[in-house]
Amino acid sequence: MNMNQKMNQADNNFRDKLTTVSKEGKRVWVYPKKPKGILYNYRKIVASVLLAFLFIAPHLSYKGDPFILLNILERKFIIFGIIIWPQDFHIIVLSLIAFVVFIILFTVVFGRIFCGWVCPQTIFMEFVFRQIEYWIEGDYSAQKKLSRQDWNFEKIWKKTLKQTVFFIISFIIANTFLSYLIGSDKLWLLMTDGPAANIGSFLAVVIFSGVFYFIFAFFREQVCLIACPYGRLQGVMLDSKSIVVAYDFKRGEPRGKHNPLEDRSKKGKGDCINCLSCVVVCPTNIDIRNGTQLECINCTACIDACNAIMDWTGKPRGLIRYDSEKGIKEGIRSIFNPRSIAYSAVLTILLLIVASLLIFRTDFETTILRQKGTLFQQYGDSSYSNIYQIEVVNKTRDHHNVSVKLIEPQGEIIPLGDPIVAEKGNVGKGTFLVAIQKDQLNSSNTLLKFGVYSENEMIEEYKASFVGPNYLDKK
Ligand code: SF4
Ligand code: SF4
Repeated sequence: MNMNQKMNQADNNFRDKLTTVSKEGKRVWVYPKKPKGILYNYRKIVASVLLAFLFIAPHLSYKGDPFILLNILERKFIIFGIIIWPQDFHIIVLSLIAFVVFIILFTVVFGRIFCGWVCPQTIFMEFVFRQIEYWIEGDYSAQKKLSRQDWNFEKIWKKTLKQTVFFIISFIIANTFLSYLIGSDKLWLLMTDGPAANIGSFLAVVIFSGVFYFIFAFFREQVCLIACPYGRLQGVMLDSKSIVVAYDFKRGEPRGKHNPLEDRSKKGKGDCINCLSCVVVCPTNIDIRNGTQLECINCTACIDACNAIMDWTGKPRGLIRYDSEKGIKEGIRSIFNPRSIAYSAVLTILLLIVASLLIFRTDFETTILRQKGTLFQQYGDSSYSNIYQIEVVNKTRDHHNVSVKLIEPQGEIIPLGDPIVAEKGNVGKGTFLVAIQKDQLNSSNTLLKFGVYSENEMIEEYKASFVGPNYLDKK
């Protein structure tokens, strides 16, 4: 192994271990310094808007239905007031595929920007739970001190208060997610009826509260490092042109202590003063100066921290910034490459398909089939009859009384059984008999055209075959 290879190996040693696991294999608890800066302020605004939306949206209604409902169990979805019934489930599947392609495209072009700005895990961790921690225990150094000290009165009350608030918030989050699943009205009924009347739902909420509490109180950044499949896929999605949070090693190296009296460039030093401000703010405990790492959630805390140092040393901001590896090495920043263009094309096609499925979907879906196992019957002296079964899927928000008329050929429809009623979002079913005069039939298989009506308005046309005796073929 030559000198260069040895140096490269030494440079890359950080990749051999997780920064949150000690040599002994124990968890290294991360105490990130509270971030400050422009990007952090922007992230606070984005997080506040998203959190407000998350907690308010399930309580909004539109035309008597929830504004958003994600009832996976009954396959009923309402997205921004648009009802997607189980019969339209393919639209949900296609929308999810489009969403995944959108995330992949975004990752190819802009790295893990989703993790840092929009991911619920990051938003809850950094802008809810971490804020409570800073509020009760103080900034990172005070938290470290508190953890090291004996279990005195201060430590007991602070830790107890923090864990209690954490569990209450986890309980609120679990209830919020449940309200997306079953609707806030049903959730309110469950609450007012009490746990004893709905023991199953109550246990589900307690279990989910426990899961959220465990994630935000203990598991924390480990979700992003070892559990999140999206995080694991970064290695195959990023390339040298992806825009990520990156350290400008050309400008920063070689590092050296700050001395206000010296001209760093004349001394051959880069702009990094090795102050570690970018490391102490990192919620995943990494040093971004080592290069892009799977632990980096692109939270931008190190950008703000380094910008503050650059202001202090009188150097231009942006030693750590959003840039690509190619951008830093060659000064070229292009978001267009074959992969991003291919993903964009697939995404555009998927979005067009989803949009046209939504625009052109019908309010009703009718099926009329001859009753299984039946053929024709003599009906009176001059007619033959067939029995049909009808199913009408009602995708509207209203209840409809459905009737069927024969458009052609001439004939008679005799309803059998109860009237056909299609409730909102449900399937109306019925059975009827069609009688046609023999002289109207020219073959053993005649095409019928039905009109399906709600009150007096035709909602659909449907074609079905009418079976008669074989001698009609010889007529
Ligand atoms: S904050 Fe900036 S100057 Fe300080 S160590 Fe990090 S990269 Fe270097
Ligand atoms: S390296 Fe910077 S952007 Fe990445 S997680 Fe750490 S602080 Fe956030």
